[in-house]
Amino acid sequence: MYKDPVCGMNVEHEHYSIEIESKKYYFCSNGCLNKFKDSPLEYSKKSTYDLIIIGGGPAGLTAAVYASISKLNTFLITNDIGGQAIDSSKVKNYMGFEFITGKELAEKFRDQFLEEHYLEHKMGEVIKINQIGDKFEIITKDREKYESQTLIIATGMKKRKMGIPGEDRLVRKGVSYSSVQDISLFKGLDVVVIGGGNSGAQTAEDLSKTGCNVSLITKGKMIADQKNIDKIKKYNNIKIYEGYNITEIYGEDSVEGVIIQSEDTMATTKLPCKGVFIQVGFLPNTEYCKDLVNLNRAGEIIINPDCSTNKPGIFACGDVTNAFGKRIIIASGEGAKAVLSAKKYLLDKKK
Ligand SMILES: Cc1cc2nc3c(=O)[nH]c(=O)nc-3n(C[C@H](O)[C@H](O)[C@H](O)COP(=O)(O)OP(=O)(O)OC[C@H]3O[C@@H](n4cnc5c(N)ncnc54)[C@H](O)[C@@H]3O)c2cc1C
Repeated sequence: MYKDPVCGMNVEHEHYSIEIESKKYYFCSNGCLNKFKDSPLEYSKKSTYDLIIIGGGPAGLTAAVYASISKLNTFLITNDIGGQAIDSSKVKNYMGFEFITGKELAEKFRDQFLEEHYLEHKMGEVIKINQIGDKFEIITKDREKYESQTLIIATGMKKRKMGIPGEDRLVRKGVSYSSVQDISLFKGLDVVVIGGGNSGAQTAEDLSKTGCNVSLITKGKMIADQKNIDKIKKYNNIKIYEGYNITEIYGEDSVEGVIIQSEDTMATTKLPCKGVFIQVGFLPNTEYCKDLVNLNRAGEIIINPDCSTNKPGIFACGDVTNAFGKRIIIASGEGAKAVLSAKKYLLDKKK
């Protein structure tokens, strides 16, 4: 694995490289290679743009492709490429594909962006946005600053935590929030899945297929779609505990088990296991912009039908917004719409 010196992306291939003074550099795309060639020492950013897109999931990447086609002077900044879509082991509801994994679909999005519609981009986390006159200044965790006339916020959602003893201490030591990437690490072991929604049901099924003995714990009743509940009930190696809370994840250096408590009797039981998969919902990534744009009670950015927010010049799209339907196809569509609106805003401003 290499790190692109221009954008900071992890690069798994050797398609784009250059050797300078016996040192070899690898790039995510021809675009970043060319930027490096143009100016090997000063290859980083110019810092004022027409549009900055924050987030590289389906919404942000679609926005990036549309912005590139629209010839807007645009920059994309994101923590990762692909977003939550990578976590889906099977996407059956995206037009044009009968069946595709989330990872494959995200790779297609990335390739379309990097190979066909390249835009300047950087891997990084936005921690603050300041309004300066009619422009916006973005500050990243690495203290880099970028300025733009308009913004598209496409930062999606993150997994909700349980907030119970042992959870933080045992992350990556048996506690997992993502399903697809971690499942193979637990082949054939005893595992616990927390959460009775569709993500919990899908994770339980994926784990059971690798030979795990799965205990699925949910407070109250399962809330997954009935067809998903019926499906997992057919597996002999999935046991569903409805009406239980998890009070602790225990273990010294790695997960050794969980303590569950019955909602009826309040009796506690220890369930030994090696892995705990937490699937208890999502929170919108709006921490860094919550003082700038209006949010609803769920913390989602409130948008108008054209993806504009209450703040002129700031647009938002995808799962981070209050738009109905948390789906890849909807996030992508909203990403395209946000660019058309940002472009119109810029044209109107010039008039
Ligand atoms: C397990 C699972 C299975 C799913 N299965 C399906 C399915 O089969 N079909 C379907 O249609 N949908 C599915 N979904 C939902 C789908 O993945 C989401 O609706 C979609 O990914 C939303 O796209 P988005 O771009 O709005 O947000 P996200 O995918 O959440 O992307 C957000 C992006 O923003 C970046 N980011 C966040 N905060 C910052 C910050 N401060 N600075 C910089 N970058 C930041 C992230 O790194 C990420 O790149 C599934 C989701 C999960 C979790």
